[in-house]
Amino acid sequence: MQIIRASEMGFCFGVRRAVDMMEEAVRERGDMVSLGSVVHNPQVVEKLRNDGLAVITDVAQAGDKPVAITAHGVGPDVIQVLEATGVEIIDTTCPIVTRSQQWARRLSEEGFAVVMFGDPNHKEMRGVQGWAKGHVLTVASEADVELLPEDFPSRVGVLSQTTETEARFASFVKKLFEVNIDRISELRVLNTLCHATTSQQAATIHLASQVSLIIVVGGRDSANTRHLAIVARECGAETYHIETADEIEPGWLAGHEKVGVTAGASTPDFVIDQVVSRLEELSA
Ligand code: SF4
Repeated sequence: MQIIRASEMGFCFGVRRAVDMMEEAVRERGDMVSLGSVVHNPQVVEKLRNDGLAVITDVAQAGDKPVAITAHGVGPDVIQVLEATGVEIIDTTCPIVTRSQQWARRLSEEGFAVVMFGDPNHKEMRGVQGWAKGHVLTVASEADVELLPEDFPSRVGVLSQTTETEARFASFVKKLFEVNIDRISELRVLNTLCHATTSQQAATIHLASQVSLIIVVGGRDSANTRHLAIVARECGAETYHIETADEIEPGWLAGHEKVGVTAGASTPDFVIDQVVSRLEELSA
């Protein structure tokens, strides 16, 4: 059995930068906290916890320790609360997420209602939504474009969760306009998709043309990892999403001559290497 790695996978620029910043901060300052997990990957979180970085879920839990904001970013209300307490803030928000936040603010300042395409419960989306003032709506699927509130302004700005697929975002924008064409006088579309994510998706599509089985490695809470699994399945490959090598079931490999491995943007290299080693063992 041949094992083929996707040409692009694993830690993206934003996650690598956030992890590096937190590792350096905890080395220099000692015990500190991060507001949420640094990335959606339990192995990375555990390693940082051992170094002294505890995860908190609410700003009220920060105490007087330095607080790291994760790559997904937060809304301005959270920053204000932290600043009011006087704690040191280490902001590792990915610059690409910061760009989405700035667009959300600018669109609403210019009088646009803001429609955001993505998961309303995802941390990045909750943070970006916080920067938009006035009319703002997060829509999770194309099927919900008819739910624009009655009082929604006719000038609409649209942006996307950074990890969405190009095809899904393009299709969403088309449907939004088609369904609401009588209510929208101006539509401004901001392409806030992350190039790192779209490159990994393109690499997964290419991988699916070479293999019949794809193992997608990454945290189950990681949106971009889940999207890779969706892309692989849509391409027709038998697909399994795992977090660690020990989840691989030998039976999955039966009948497959070529197996592909890809990984989400929050998956560290050592976890990918463990998966490839396990596949090599099972195919020996
Ligand atoms: S996937 Fe893109 S937007 Fe998200 S952290 Fe990585 S580089 Fe930034």
